[in-house]
Amino acid sequence: MTIRTRLALQFLLLASIILGSAFLVVYAFSADYRQEEFMARLKDRGTNTAKLLIQVDEVDELLLAKIEADNPVRLPEEDIAIYDHHDHLIFRLGVPSGPPCDSAFLDRVRLEEELRDGTGVREQVAFLFSDQYDRFVVVASGHDVYGRRKVRNLGNVLIATFLIGLVLIFLVGRFYAQRAMSPVQRLIDEIRAISAANLSQRAQTGNDRDELAQLALTFNDLLDRLQTAFLSQKHFIANASHELRTPLTAISGQLDVLLLKTREPEEYAKAVRSIRDDMYTLNRLADRLLLMAQVEHRGPASTFGPVRMDEVLWQARSEVLRADPANQVEVAMDSVEDEQDLLVLGNENLLRSLVANLIENACKYSPDHVARVRLEAGGEQVRIRVEDRGIGIPAEDQERIFEPFVRLNNTGGAKGHGIGLSLARHIADLHRGIILVRSTVGQGSSFTVELPKAA
Ligand code: ADP
Repeated sequence: MTIRTRLALQFLLLASIILGSAFLVVYAFSADYRQEEFMARLKDRGTNTAKLLIQVDEVDELLLAKIEADNPVRLPEEDIAIYDHHDHLIFRLGVPSGPPCDSAFLDRVRLEEELRDGTGVREQVAFLFSDQYDRFVVVASGHDVYGRRKVRNLGNVLIATFLIGLVLIFLVGRFYAQRAMSPVQRLIDEIRAISAANLSQRAQTGNDRDELAQLALTFNDLLDRLQTAFLSQKHFIANASHELRTPLTAISGQLDVLLLKTREPEEYAKAVRSIRDDMYTLNRLADRLLLMAQVEHRGPASTFGPVRMDEVLWQARSEVLRADPANQVEVAMDSVEDEQDLLVLGNENLLRSLVANLIENACKYSPDHVARVRLEAGGEQVRIRVEDRGIGIPAEDQERIFEPFVRLNNTGGAKGHGIGLSLARHIADLHRGIILVRSTVGQGSSFTVELPKAA
């Protein structure tokens, strides 16, 4: 069910409850009022008749019957009976509506002075009428034909008004709900029109103030972020393909040249070595891309466990030394009393890759190929600082180098693909850590990773 219809129905329900209750109160009040009024008239009639009969000496039963026969204020189907203190019916006027009252009933009237009964078709008032010599019981009843008809008519009018009102309220409710929801429909249409092909399109934000404008703004915000992510992914794929194609082209080129004619064994060996180097590069690139994908698609760090950062550092050192024996890595560590101080909650492979990247860069971009690494564990963080006395990084590029596939011009012949630092930052982010860089061109650089301790 659409919100529009739901709103209209809720509106209808609410209105029908209010209208129905109001009409019910009016009807009940009118019915009560009619009965009260008719009974008051019955009592008046009874009292007048009793007064005439009992208190006016000149009037006897016959004369009274005659007088009352033409009385225009007689009530419909009126029956007035007067009983003396012996329970004898001394006078009855009008059409008898039933047998005379029994003694038990008359005694009750004497006790309670007045009894009213409006439960049946006829209303009846029985009351005590006293004069100075005797006490009489007057029982007056009648059928309020006109009053009842009026109340019935009022009921019919109220029911008809209620039903017509409901239809009108539903139509008006639907109209207003439609009007209220039309901006939402417009927003839905606009959002539907946006696809990956036209991600730059935005929803209109209207007056910029109401909830719908806020929704449109939030949605546009989301689109901004999606578009950025989408573009950077496109960029990433283009760059990755380019980086993968370069060694592949080199390999196939070398093989083509090799196959042109028969060669000396040394030439074959040289070509195979070169191809092996390219394969190695390809392999490393594929590894890093895979790692990057893993880091990007990793959910919350549910599989993280305690990792000792001194062990990670030694493993990273071995990895860098194995990759190029010309590298040198000098390690210094704070003396730590409690091993817990070296624990970080994380993934050992990823953390090793992060540290190895920084050490490898320090060796790669310094003429002495020396990386100086220091592990500190004071305070809330475990800190690993990697320093070199290498080429340094210009201040304006110090943030840019963390973007994927960015390589600076000063790298000379050093091999690389420009994803090591980007990967390192992703890994640090995943572990709620940071990487800080300080560098002076021509003097060297210092990269510091700060990771929160497991404790
Ligand atoms: P790669 O080393 O494969 O090129 P990185 O992402 O690790 O990729 O580094 C990106 C760029 O940052 C490098 O190409 C280099 O220009 C610069 N860089 C990184 N580390 C250092 C460093 N220690 N000294 C000087 N420049 C560096």
